[in-house]
Amino acid sequence: MAQATVLFEELAAADPSVAALARLQAAALEAADDPSWADGVPDLSDRRAPRGAEPLLHGATLTIDVERTRALLRELAAVLAAERAEAERLGPLLASAQLDVLELVSASVGQDHLRLEAIATAAEVDPGVLSIVAHTATLPLLLACGRRAAGTLQAASWSHGYCPVCAAWPILAEVRGLERDLVLRCGRCAGGWRFEHLGCVFCGNRDHRSQGYFAAERERESRRAVICDHCRGYLKTQATLGALDPPELLLRDLQSLELDVTAVEHGYARPDSPGWDLTVRIEPGRRAAPTR
Ligand SMILES: [Zn+2]
Ligand SMILES: [Zn+2]
Repeated sequence: MAQATVLFEELAAADPSVAALARLQAAALEAADDPSWADGVPDLSDRRAPRGAEPLLHGATLTIDVERTRALLRELAAVLAAERAEAERLGPLLASAQLDVLELVSASVGQDHLRLEAIATAAEVDPGVLSIVAHTATLPLLLACGRRAAGTLQAASWSHGYCPVCAAWPILAEVRGLERDLVLRCGRCAGGWRFEHLGCVFCGNRDHRSQGYFAAERERESRRAVICDHCRGYLKTQATLGALDPPELLLRDLQSLELDVTAVEHGYARPDSPGWDLTVRIEPGRRAAPTR
């Protein structure tokens, strides 16, 4: 992962608009290198899911080392505070016993914006910065879930636009290889699933007259933001040779920020809520022995 960290740092230095996110993600990916996150993830293959519309993690119980997670939250808050003054108030909150780490992680994994906002309001911190830090801090746990689910996913058929593991909407779609297979990729658990439905990922609209895309002239074939006039959603697509690994996936997202800006400026957005109302129980696990 050290090589990936260098790439994130180079991006942060070159593009101030994504510097904060790039440094946060680099720190979370480094934390994700610790294999013990997987200790808190159950064997998802025996759930015989995903079935119907229910993602694999729905109803699952995950365990986390509360103190290690709190340390990661504090580390990420410090990274963000170096870039954004609003994040300075997070440090004391995350250090205090007042903060229920399990509640925060549970709200973040479920993408429950109302609960995240309530936690922020009660602690008098900015809801936006708390959400960013919480979402980044859950990355190692969700990546461990994605790895655990990979085998099950390969055998499953999934026809929905949201992630079959964690219910998040895809961060981008890979147009993979010479066959140009469309594979949706989750930016939280890094899950990938083929999407054969030709309509809009978000609303299922198949009418091509209400679909289009934005792209820079010279990158038309390699990078686009596909838009839907039915739901006003947009999704970035990128040509890839094969499956992107998690750092590449997050880097590609940050490197194509201008597509997000263009789509948003034209009134398109990513959905506010996940594709499924995910319920995941987060419990305290025992403290793992130091790995080194
Ligand atoms: Zn996912
Ligand atoms: Zn749509």
